[in-house]
Amino acid sequence: MTDRRFNIWIITLFPGYFEPYLEFGVAGAALKGERGVNFKLHLVNIATHSDKDWKGIDSAPYGGGAGMVMRADVLKNTIINGVVRPGNYGDNFREKLHVVYTSPRGRKWNNESCMEFAKKLWSSDSKKDLVLICGRYEGLDERFIKNYVDEEISVGDYVLTGGEIPVLCILDSALRFVPGVLGNKDSLSHESFGEGLLEHPQYTRPQVFEGEDVPGILLSGHHANIEKYRKEERIRITKENRADLFEKYLNGGLE
Ligand code: SAM
Repeated sequence: MTDRRFNIWIITLFPGYFEPYLEFGVAGAALKGERGVNFKLHLVNIATHSDKDWKGIDSAPYGGGAGMVMRADVLKNTIINGVVRPGNYGDNFREKLHVVYTSPRGRKWNNESCMEFAKKLWSSDSKKDLVLICGRYEGLDERFIKNYVDEEISVGDYVLTGGEIPVLCILDSALRFVPGVLGNKDSLSHESFGEGLLEHPQYTRPQVFEGEDVPGILLSGHHANIEKYRKEERIRITKENRADLFEKYLNGGLE
């Protein structure tokens, strides 16, 4: 990690979504600049950058059709007056910011893209601050996307009512890859998607629950056998639940 401050700007109509997030867990603590990670979260309310407050944010789509579209001019005001000016990014701000728009038509977010994202933005050689734009209504005017957005990210093949939950998903999952955020770094490699497999079943006290004992191997104290059992379980569960991942795992070479 470096001493540089990593600014994260969230552009939204509902800053209230993010305030409680800061109060809980390791990711909330990291975003408050705790856990040895120098993050600073800024919430930018689109409504305060529109001439007519909420009424001026959206307009009907050219060509007709359902719903409303977020206006390019209002979004430009928001990014210039809500991010570029207070952050002192200057005229060449496009070179200093990585601007993400969450959108169902974006590149699909997964464990690999999440890891790359965290590395690109929050490692010692990273130069750019992050801006995350939460869409609402039918989304953003295409001209704003073309001129100001670097990357569109989708959190899955379904449509949500707004970009706030996708932004929380993106941040929460990517922050886990920042050194210092998770207490135990082994958590990452043994978790679902690590090594291309889902996680094995987990057991804790009581040893017997509703007449069922935990698998005996876990009580044996024989670490190599426990590892072997867990690996077999990871393969079994991946095969049962995710044919796509299992196929990929097999192609990578099954041990
Ligand atoms: N008309 C858009 C479409 O068909 O692709 C959907 C708009 S959606 C109702 C409103 C906003 O929610 C989007 O602008 C986007 O920011 C967010 N959103 C919805 N589903 C999403 C997803 N799967 N991934 C990322 N963002 C999503």
